[in-house]
Amino acid sequence: MILETEKSGVTRRDFAAGAAAALLAGSPLPAQAALGTARVISVDTVGGPRFGIKSYPGTLPLADGELVLTFDDGPLPATTGPVLDALARDNVRATFFLIGRNARANPTFVRRIAAAGHTLANHTMNHPWTLRQRSFEAGMKDILDGQDAIEQAAGQKIAPFFRFPGFADTPELLAELSRRNIAVWGADLWASDWNEMTPEAQLQLITTRVVKARKGIVLLHDTRRQTAAMLPTFLSALNQRGFRVVHAVPA
Ligand SMILES: [Zn+2]
Repeated sequence: MILETEKSGVTRRDFAAGAAAALLAGSPLPAQAALGTARVISVDTVGGPRFGIKSYPGTLPLADGELVLTFDDGPLPATTGPVLDALARDNVRATFFLIGRNARANPTFVRRIAAAGHTLANHTMNHPWTLRQRSFEAGMKDILDGQDAIEQAAGQKIAPFFRFPGFADTPELLAELSRRNIAVWGADLWASDWNEMTPEAQLQLITTRVVKARKGIVLLHDTRRQTAAMLPTFLSALNQRGFRVVHAVPA
């Protein structure tokens, strides 16, 4: 379950005002060098490590200003397409936690994500809400079915990275994932893009949080229109503020 508690205190930042105005006006942003992908971090998944301080004690070893971008719940053509276009324009690589049934329905997009060099990861077959309301056996089946569906769509193995829907883990599932050497991903900060808002509000919210956190695993959803709409401006904002994107791959 995700409770939103940080709605207050979002202030309009100087860059965000300009960027949001440009976004709303539909005018192009000034030309600048692409954000790019600064480095690759190899993640050793032996023993099933857990990352993301929203749920777990530790996270990836990131330096100040370093962000790992993650996108959940796709692929959905209407929104995943623009997200991939924006990432490609800025030469940014991310990790996509796909839903198996969406991967099965949209295999072209799964292969497109892989071909662009992004990391493919698993977010269950059917996105149960939540796995805490399922038996261990049913939960494990949904996790493994998701992995199979994504791998069949991709035509290749995916990273042994898993994220629980709603971050709703259980001790039994965590133990089994640990036994299977599958890393469990939470997040260090998130866009709260499960809440409906304008692209301008989304941009302000996530940028404010990134500036405050300074580093970490960022959770977004490539299934959300507001996220797809603001992503080009968000990437420009990260670039302007000196943030660097780190691409996570399995060791
Ligand atoms: Zn999800």
